[in-house]
Amino acid sequence: MTQVPGTTNTVLGPVPTEAMGVTLMHEHVCMSNEGQFLDSRIVDDRADRLATAVGKLVAARDVGIDTIVDATPIDLNRDAAFLKEASEAAQINIVCSTGLYTESHGQPSYFKHMSAQELSDLFVHEITEGIGNTGVRAGVLKCATGEGEITPTEVRTFEAIAHAQSKTGVPVITHTSGGQGVEQARILTSNGAEAAQVMIGHVDHKRSSYSYYERILRTGVNMAFDRCGLQIFLPDTVRAALIAGLIANGLQDRLFLSMDSVSSRVGEPSAFEVGAPEPLVYLMTGFSDLLGQYGVGPETIRTLLTANPARLFGGS
Ligand SMILES: [Zn+2]
Repeated sequence: MTQVPGTTNTVLGPVPTEAMGVTLMHEHVCMSNEGQFLDSRIVDDRADRLATAVGKLVAARDVGIDTIVDATPIDLNRDAAFLKEASEAAQINIVCSTGLYTESHGQPSYFKHMSAQELSDLFVHEITEGIGNTGVRAGVLKCATGEGEITPTEVRTFEAIAHAQSKTGVPVITHTSGGQGVEQARILTSNGAEAAQVMIGHVDHKRSSYSYYERILRTGVNMAFDRCGLQIFLPDTVRAALIAGLIANGLQDRLFLSMDSVSSRVGEPSAFEVGAPEPLVYLMTGFSDLLGQYGVGPETIRTLLTANPARLFGGS
């Protein structure tokens, strides 16, 4: 069975895409670094982890967030059953990803030895049939490139993601590591992905520039300032000024906002998670206030958080 037209797969089943409401496009309800969850010294208390995640999701719901897109790829301990329980308990929509991470920080050899066709078959299966016996169907495709050159393994994954996008119609969200957004867009679109359903992620990086943004947008894809609050990648004042500049140039329909937060994890957090603002809530409070100081009002912010995600997921 394919995705029902006009709907988006959430972990609790399809919802009308137009009813997704305020949507954060790149968060992690639970994740771990590749292999971290295999370290036997880490004692995982799943119930405690779930309670932590649910607390943060309830807080998100209380500030007006309706839908969380969980951007965790298969190899970073994606856990569809966990997402389902968290969604039920917090009464918030969660969209689960399929796809793989960078070669340097993911891509277990089992997947690395698959052809683009085999990978595409896997991703399509997770979207149309489901993830194991969880009953959860993936609703978004995730792919990533590391620092510097895009590796052959990453190219093959992007080709597979593009094929799966054209076959299923679900959107693609990406991870960049301070560049390669233009190359990512080209590989995806030249392999059949619909440009309007591609969101290049993490463009809010100190190595980014306005001309980099122009080159990405010229390919027809969208892009996300999805690390709001993570000042280690870019100070929020610079982030807000860049977003305001793009909006002043009429590009508000091509932009997305999110936080790349981790609500719970197995093991110790990564360096960038330490000192991050309160997950999920900060975007609707502190960062929205900051955008206001740069002339981006509540109506425009609502467009970035509601109309743009609905369009990316195939709504009108
Ligand atoms: Zn992320």
